[in-house]
Amino acid sequence: MKFVCIDCQKEMPASTNTFTCKCGGLLEVVHDFSRIDSEQLKHVFTQRLSLRTTPFASGVWRYKELIFPELEDRFITTKYEGNTGLYTPVKLQEYTGIQQLYVKAQSENPSGSFKDNGMTVAVSHGRSLGFSRFACSSTGNTSSSLAMYAALAGGESYVYVPQNRISQNKVLQTLAYGANVIRFDGTYDDGIRFLRDHAEELGLYVCNSVNPMRIEGQKSIIYEIAQTLEWKLPDWIVVPGGALSNATALGKGLHDLYTLGFIDKLPRVAIVQAVGASPFHRMVVQKLDALEPELSPQTVASALNIGNPPSWKKALRMIEATNGVTIAVSDVEILDAKAMVDQSGIGCEPASAATIAGLRALIESNVIDKEESALCILTGNMLKDTDTLYQYHLGETPGRFQRTIQNSTLNPSST
Ligand SMILES: *Cc1c(COP(=O)(O)O)cnc(C)c1O
Ligand SMILES: [Zn+2]
Repeated sequence: MKFVCIDCQKEMPASTNTFTCKCGGLLEVVHDFSRIDSEQLKHVFTQRLSLRTTPFASGVWRYKELIFPELEDRFITTKYEGNTGLYTPVKLQEYTGIQQLYVKAQSENPSGSFKDNGMTVAVSHGRSLGFSRFACSSTGNTSSSLAMYAALAGGESYVYVPQNRISQNKVLQTLAYGANVIRFDGTYDDGIRFLRDHAEELGLYVCNSVNPMRIEGQKSIIYEIAQTLEWKLPDWIVVPGGALSNATALGKGLHDLYTLGFIDKLPRVAIVQAVGASPFHRMVVQKLDALEPELSPQTVASALNIGNPPSWKKALRMIEATNGVTIAVSDVEILDAKAMVDQSGIGCEPASAATIAGLRALIESNVIDKEESALCILTGNMLKDTDTLYQYHLGETPGRFQRTIQNSTLNPSST
C-alpha cells in the first residue's frame, strides 16, 4: 500500500500524515492486489458475516484485505460500524416512480452517519503511526464520528467548527463525546487551510476527507451493498455530494470490485447536490475545465453546505468512468423527500434525502428509466438536525407532508 499524488503521480509511503502532495494535488491509496484470489476472498468475506466480536465483525474491517491489509489488528479502533440495513420501501418506490428501489441506511452507523465507515480506518491508521491526538474541520458529522473514535481509542480530539450554519445536534454530540470544540469565525474551507498549515507543529493527526485513509474505509459501503445483493448491483447508485468524499469512495470501491471480478458490470452513478451549494453539478453541466467554488453556499442540508469540495477531481473521474450524471435539487424538494423517508419508517437527515429528491427528478426528466433499478445511499440519521424537523412540521418551512400534534381531552368520544 502506498500514497500516490493524483496530479503528478509522485509516490510516497502510506506511513505519513501529509495528505497533499508538494504540487498541491490530493493523494490516494494504491494497493497491490496482484496476489488476491477473488473467489477465495469472496468466501472469506461470507464466512466473516457470522462473527460477532473480532474486528472482522465490522462492516468495514470485514474487507480489510481491500482496505488496509498491512495494519496490525491491535491498532484497529472499531464500533462494528457498517452492517447497516438495505431496504426496499414501497412508499419511496411510489414517491420516486421507479419500479425497483433499494435504500442503504448508512444512518444506522454508531455515530449516526456514513462518516464512521471512513473514520474507523483513519483513526486506526493514526494510531499505527503513534498519534493519540486527532483533528478535523467539519460541518458536524465528521466531528461527531471523530470524537467518538478518538474517545474509544483513549485519545483526544480537536474539532474546528465554523460559526455559520451547522446543526446544533451535531456540535452537542461532538462535545458530549469529550472533544475539544474550537469555534471560529470563517468557513469550513478556512478550517481546512488552518489544519493543513499547523497540524504538524501541533502534533495532530488530521481526519478530514482529504485523508485518503477515510476514502479507503468509505469504499466498504459499496462492498457491503454488493455482498448483500450477491455481487449484482442495481443499474444506478445515487449519492449526495458535499465535499464529494462519498462519491469518490464509491467510485474507488466500484473500480476495485470490477477489476477484481467481484462484479461484471459497473452501475451508473448519480451525484445529487443542493441548488444552493452545487459547484460540482455546475462544472459538469457547463463542461468547465475546473471547479469554480461557490463563495457563499446556502442550503438547509447542512452536510451539503460546502462551496469548494476538495475531492472534485476524484469525483469527476468517477462520473466519467461510470457514465454518471449530476443533478441539483431545491431545499423544498429535499425536505419533502426527507418527510417521505421518515414516514417510510427509515428516517434520515436532510442531506441524505437529496438522493430521493434527485432520483425522483431524474425519473421525471427521463434520465433514469422507471424500468431500471436504483439504490439511494442515505448518509445520516433523522435526529441529526432536530431544528430543521421542528421548522418543517411545527414551524414556518413550506412543504407537502407536514404532520401536526393533535390536542385531546383524552375522552374517546372526542376523537
Ligand atoms: C458528509 C455528509 C454528506 C456529504 O458527503 P461528502 O462526502 O462530503 O460529499 C452527506 N450527508 C451526510 C449526512 C453527511 O454527513
Ligand atoms: Zn503531486
